[in-house]
Amino acid sequence: MKFLPIFLDTSRGPILLVGAGDPVRARLRLLLAAEARVRWHATDGDFAVPGLGAAAASRIEREESDPRNADLGGIVAVFCAGAGAIGESVAARALTAGVPVNVMDDPARSSFIVPAIVDRGDVVAAIGTGGASPVVARRVRERIEAVLPARIGDLATMIGRWRKTIHDHIPDLPLRRRFWERVIDGPIGEAVLAGRADEAEGSLKSIADPSAYAGASVPGDVEGCVTLVGAGPGDPDLLTVKALRALQDADIVFYDELITPEILDRARRDAVRVPVGRRVGKPGIGQDAINRLLIDAAGSGQRAVRLKGGDPFIFGRGGEEAEALREAGVRCSVIPGITAGLGAAAESGVPLTYRHEALRVTFLTAHKAHDASNVDWSTLTDRKMTVVVYMGITAAPAIRSGLLAAGRSPETPVGVFARATRPDARTVVGILDHLPALVRDVEGGPAILVIGDVVSHSARWRNTNSFLQTLQMAAE
Ligand code: SAH
Repeated sequence: MKFLPIFLDTSRGPILLVGAGDPVRARLRLLLAAEARVRWHATDGDFAVPGLGAAAASRIEREESDPRNADLGGIVAVFCAGAGAIGESVAARALTAGVPVNVMDDPARSSFIVPAIVDRGDVVAAIGTGGASPVVARRVRERIEAVLPARIGDLATMIGRWRKTIHDHIPDLPLRRRFWERVIDGPIGEAVLAGRADEAEGSLKSIADPSAYAGASVPGDVEGCVTLVGAGPGDPDLLTVKALRALQDADIVFYDELITPEILDRARRDAVRVPVGRRVGKPGIGQDAINRLLIDAAGSGQRAVRLKGGDPFIFGRGGEEAEALREAGVRCSVIPGITAGLGAAAESGVPLTYRHEALRVTFLTAHKAHDASNVDWSTLTDRKMTVVVYMGITAAPAIRSGLLAAGRSPETPVGVFARATRPDARTVVGILDHLPALVRDVEGGPAILVIGDVVSHSARWRNTNSFLQTLQMAAE
């Protein structure tokens, strides 16, 4: 984030606008939409602006004087658009005087840039790309426009009107937050968005009366809970909508070492973040202690999220946590995530099943595979079975020898998918016989191994083999 997004209070003083032509008129419309008072120096002397309402037009002060000598005292911000060299010198003066200044399409002379904006009254979304690409910003804006209900601003306005009253009635912050969530997510919010403002106002009035509830029985429940949330393999865009919502609602987030900072960033900004991960070979905090933390958090009325890599119920000890919570009488729910094996397969174009060719998939943990008694390799020799191995890096030699001894072909295609769906993802493909060397090639985990003919459908396999063929042809 190169720029800090802030919202400017335009009632604090006039905005100085300098420029001519269509660019300055676009800026003028934006400023008037934000209810600003605009002191406008039209550098070509043309002050005509077609189609302005009387109220908006009355907020324009038309200035004939030279803007280079303009008094900057009390000016909230300076905008230059289509003002050429005059704009540049006004901007230089504003910068020296410490007044925020924007020169359209000229970040080098500006102290702030203007975002793409979604305007829903009191709800405003500002989208920036650090000045890199206004086109990308506009695309993002279109998406937000598409999902934001038209009357979301009305909802914010109504809540704004009641804010102080409710604040006085429910001084406790978590309680109050939950009250508002119930209002927004429940029938009252629905009524506002459907345009039934009077009905919504009436309902809010009836539940806002403190005699209608006492202490903890405030509308909106205050019982703590734990949600086990699957975070997916690393790419934050692979979070489910439900996972995102849980993260946005959480008071506290307990997260694994597999969780990337980009995913943690999606949690509510003021949520407490607690790392509880174990690193391979390092003890970290034990499972019992984690269970205790979750139970205590819920016991104190918090909405806790237990954020786990991939899916909570695939090699994530989510089952144990859910049971411990249930035994302790804590309300608990589970949000599934995209497990690393599926993320890696999709990213690399490896279909885990394939008509006639791969009819079964096994998800296997190789955590203890070096001890041969832990894995029955004879169940994994079917050529039409794809084997997806978790925690297989250190056990790679044991996996190779176990499968070969049980009779799986040494030529079986294998893929090693390290840090799948993350920016530093690395894929290596080869044959089972070479597995330990392939694993070394990806230079660190976490990594998924996929063993089976389906690996030969991946783009990487095709490239690797056509490369080998080219080498062979060259040698011949
Ligand atoms: N619950 C998780 C698995 C946890 S076990 C899930 O459903 O994905 C930890 C193992 O997951 C790692 O040893 C590795 O094998 C695998 N893993 C997790 N994230 C991964 C990623 N981004 N790329 C490759 N493997 C990953």
